[in-house]
Amino acid sequence: MTPEAPMTPEAALLRVIHCLDRALASPFKTKAFVRALDVVRSTDPVEIAERARDERLQELDGIGDATASVITEALAGLVPAYLTKVEAESEVPLTDAGAVYRAALRGDCHLHSTWSDGGAEIEAMAMTAIELGHEYMVLTDHSARLTVAHGLNEERLARQLVEIERINDEIAAAGHDFRILTGMEVDILEDGSLDLSDEMLGELDVVVASVHSKLRMDRQPMTERMVMAVASPHVDILGHCTGRMIGKRPESSFDADYVFAACAQFDTAVEINCRPERLDPPRPLIDLAIEYGCWFSIDSDAHATGQLEWQPHGCNRAAEREVPIERIVNTMSRDDLLAWAGA
Ligand SMILES: [Zn+2]
Ligand SMILES: [Zn+2]
Repeated sequence: MTPEAPMTPEAALLRVIHCLDRALASPFKTKAFVRALDVVRSTDPVEIAERARDERLQELDGIGDATASVITEALAGLVPAYLTKVEAESEVPLTDAGAVYRAALRGDCHLHSTWSDGGAEIEAMAMTAIELGHEYMVLTDHSARLTVAHGLNEERLARQLVEIERINDEIAAAGHDFRILTGMEVDILEDGSLDLSDEMLGELDVVVASVHSKLRMDRQPMTERMVMAVASPHVDILGHCTGRMIGKRPESSFDADYVFAACAQFDTAVEINCRPERLDPPRPLIDLAIEYGCWFSIDSDAHATGQLEWQPHGCNRAAEREVPIERIVNTMSRDDLLAWAGA
C-alpha cells in the first residue's frame, strides 16, 4: 500500500491523514492536513499549481508550511518527504505468528463512520477495507444512548440501512467482491437490556454489544448486566469487554467465568479489540475465553480509514495466546459469517 509517485496533492494529503490516523496522532496534527485537503478540493487545480510554482500556497487560508511542502512535492512528481516519514513511523507491527492470523482474516466486524463518531464517510471506510483485501466490513456505528458519539436512533439507523444498500450497489457495479454488512455497536444499558428495539436488532446482519456507561458498577450487577446482553439472540459479539483504557481507565469488575460461559453457551463471540489504547481483553482473559471454547472476533474498532490497519495488534496477541484460528468468526466467508450470526 506504499504510495508511488506521481500522486495528486489530494492523494498525498489523504495518505498523510490515513497514516496519522493509523498512528493515533493528536487530532490537532491531523486537522491541519484535513483543512489543507478541503482547500485543495475547493480550489481550481490550475491555481494550486501556479501558487506551488511561485511558492505562494501559504497565502491560502488553511495551508501552512508542512502542508504546502506536501502539495508542492506531489506536484513535482515526488513522494512528499513528510509522507515518507509518517508512512514509516506509523507502520503497524506484525509478528510472524500474527501474520498467519492476519492472512486468515476476511473482514472486520466493528468500525465506525461519520454517522456516529467516526472521522470518515462510509464509502472511504469501504474503499480502504477493499484495499486491505477484506471481503466485508460490518458497519457498527453507536446507538442513540451514546449521545457524545452522536449515536443513531431507530430513524437514523433505518436511513443508514438504505444508504448502505445504495453504496453496496455502487461497490458491486465497480466490480468489487465486497459488501458492507449492516450492524450496530449497541450500548448495553445498566440493567443489561440493549439500546435498540428487538425489531431493529433483528434486521441487522451483525450486532456488537458494548458497555460504555457506569463502567465502575459493582461486580455482581456488572456480571448480570453483561450476561443478559450476551444471552440476547440478537447479540453476536461482545465488544471490548473490560472497558479499560491502558494507563487511563481500569478494567471493569465482573465475573469473567460467568460472562465467558454465557458467551460460549449463546455463541456470542468475545471481541479482541485492536485499538492500541484498549487491547481488550487483556491476556489472562483471552486465555480464559479460550478455555471456555468461546468464539472470537478480531476487530479494529476503527474511527478513521487508517485505523482499519490496526487488526495486526489483535492478530499478534491472538497468536501469542494461541487462539484457535477456526474459532475466529471473521476468518469466515461472508456467507458463513451471515449464517453464523443469523443462527
Ligand atoms: Zn465501544
Ligand atoms: Zn466502537
